[in-house]
Amino acid sequence: MSELLNVEELFGSRVFNLGKMRERLPGDVFAEVKSVMENGGELSKSSANIVARAMKEWAIENGATHYTHWFQPLNGITAEKHDAFVTHPDNEGRMLMEFSGKELVKGETDASSFPSGGLRSTFEARGYTVWDITSPAFLKEDAAGVILCIPTVLCSFSGEALDKKTPLLRSMEAVSAQALRITHLFGNTEAKKVIPSVGAEQEYFLVDREKYLKRPDLIFAGRTLFGAPAPKGQELEDHYFGAIRERIGSYMKDLNIELWKLGVTAKTQHNEVAPAQHELAPIYETANIAVDHNQLVMETMKKVAGRHGLTCLLHEKPFAGVNGSGKHDNWSLSTDNGVNLLDPGKTPNENVQFLLVLACILKAVDTHADLLRQSAADVGNDHRLGADEAPPAIISVFLGEQLDDVVRQLIETGAADHSIQGEKLVTGVSTLTDIEKDATDRNRTSPFAFTGNKFEFRMVGSSDSIASPNTTLNAIVAEAFCEAADRLESADNLELAVHDLIKEYFTEHQRIIFNGDGYAKEWVEEAAKRGLPNITNTIDAASALTTEKAIKLFEKFGIYSRTELESREEITYETYSKTINIEALTMIDMAKKLYIPAVMEYTGELANTINALHAAGQDPCVQSENLTEISAQLKKASDALKKLEEETAKASAIKNDAKAQAYAFKDHVKTAMDDLRSPVDALEMLVDKSIWPVPSYADLIFEV
Ligand code: ADP
Ligand code: MG
Repeated sequence: MSELLNVEELFGSRVFNLGKMRERLPGDVFAEVKSVMENGGELSKSSANIVARAMKEWAIENGATHYTHWFQPLNGITAEKHDAFVTHPDNEGRMLMEFSGKELVKGETDASSFPSGGLRSTFEARGYTVWDITSPAFLKEDAAGVILCIPTVLCSFSGEALDKKTPLLRSMEAVSAQALRITHLFGNTEAKKVIPSVGAEQEYFLVDREKYLKRPDLIFAGRTLFGAPAPKGQELEDHYFGAIRERIGSYMKDLNIELWKLGVTAKTQHNEVAPAQHELAPIYETANIAVDHNQLVMETMKKVAGRHGLTCLLHEKPFAGVNGSGKHDNWSLSTDNGVNLLDPGKTPNENVQFLLVLACILKAVDTHADLLRQSAADVGNDHRLGADEAPPAIISVFLGEQLDDVVRQLIETGAADHSIQGEKLVTGVSTLTDIEKDATDRNRTSPFAFTGNKFEFRMVGSSDSIASPNTTLNAIVAEAFCEAADRLESADNLELAVHDLIKEYFTEHQRIIFNGDGYAKEWVEEAAKRGLPNITNTIDAASALTTEKAIKLFEKFGIYSRTELESREEITYETYSKTINIEALTMIDMAKKLYIPAVMEYTGELANTINALHAAGQDPCVQSENLTEISAQLKKASDALKKLEEETAKASAIKNDAKAQAYAFKDHVKTAMDDLRSPVDALEMLVDKSIWPVPSYADLIFEV
């Protein structure tokens, strides 16, 4: 019997949430905190001190010795620097644990070691962290003890955002303000805020830790850089939703417990398509909290894996030839009085507010397809987008049969008088209830799919922060709402103006709607005809950040300044080059020290065998053939290795032009990497398994 789990008690037990604040803070301070959370503004100094004291007491009761401002620099992960609560001992040598309002609200950090893309020169190293009061503080427990983590943003001395959270928070305010104008037009004047909600489904791989430690490529690059395919892949479709094996099950159970304690609503778990691949989905929540929680999900996944002798791989493409991992970013907008702006209701044709919102979203996605694509770009994701198992690199919107039909009616006749309704699903078994079908099927190949009451942005990479995709979504939709509201607010006849605007937007932006198979080759051609961008890699995507169109959008709503955008573009190039450089060096290292020596030894043995057979009067034809083939591949590998060394050195030598350097890595180093991989993988299939120096694909993904 397993022990009884009290999930209700467990949930949020490590979080200083509103409930705990209500219990521990004086009524007026609690009210002030709540008001700042909901309406913005600043907490008074005295209240900040009271909150800090209460937070510290709660943390210490729960074993904490340190606190940290927890932030999300531009490297896409989180950063923390622990400070003990200790202070100067008094004159009798006693020490009191202290934590002031000032320490809660503001921190100073040496920001010079985080990527800044030129936003901050190294001699101006000062950075500030500022408390995000809307995301609750929590306790992290690991070998370092218990640490009170305070979610913060990170800004430079001159106020530029050096992190992913600041622009996200700015974008949330922008979309709220513009969406409110729309809801007010439709008579919902009670709403004070519109909140972007986000639920991020997270895919991941688990491999055995001992085997992982034998693969330098997994250790340094997070993905396999060599490896012949296993005899079996995912073709039998027996892993997706398959029964969860004991070892993985106990991992998932532990993971859930840790996440629940942190207030993360881990809800769904299942095996994914590829062997050794799995997924976890939480219940959606306010965008910035979802972003924080997704970071905690990723971190906890890795941490808990260690306890089970496993390693969690979050890379977008850890293994060639089987599915990669993504993150489905489910996004919607709801008013603070509970109206989901993306809920079409049963008869969307009659839901004018919904149709307007939809028309604005289509316009936004069509106008800024390049930006949306960029927001999901990262080096690892280049292996995934556009390959057969992930959404294509072309942005399009899936609406489904019902909405597509309403949109057609509006475009063609200017009026939509009906909505297709779901029928009954007849199973043909008398003891089974006939069920109501949804009006619309799903589409798994679309990068941006309407799924009932939200959009599912399916492009995001599994290792990436979801901050940028949601910042971009909020921003582009804010712009479309703003333009619509500008027109509608000054219209004489609102009803007519709304009608015209919906029709106009749907007509002008219908090219972005695609309900077919996004994996089909024909779609690439069709999309080109429609003039939709097909941006195949991170480097090409990066310049979308600094087009005049993008700068105008982001500056208009105060989300990014021109310099903040330029810095992000620069960081993309730098990160790209660094990542490929690490991969190339790892390949060089593995080829030189592991594969080539092992194969040379093997050929030596084989040659001895051939000689011995000759001497014994036997015909060593099989062995000779084998040796010839192996020697040929070995030569190819050795040549490719030299070439890779040269290309890597050349690309690394490029100075003062991050973009040119990134392109050198993409166009020359990556090609050289492929050229080295192929003979080494061929060799893996030619030699005795016992001499192969690293675990194979079969060992890694079938024997977890
Ligand atoms: P799937 O897409 O795998 O079929 P679901 O549709 O049930 O799964 O939900 C996927 C994710 O979408 C979950 O994280 C869920 O909480 C989230 N989600 C559901 N409704 C909303 C919403 N209104 N806004 C944002 N995310 C949502
Ligand atoms: Mg899903």
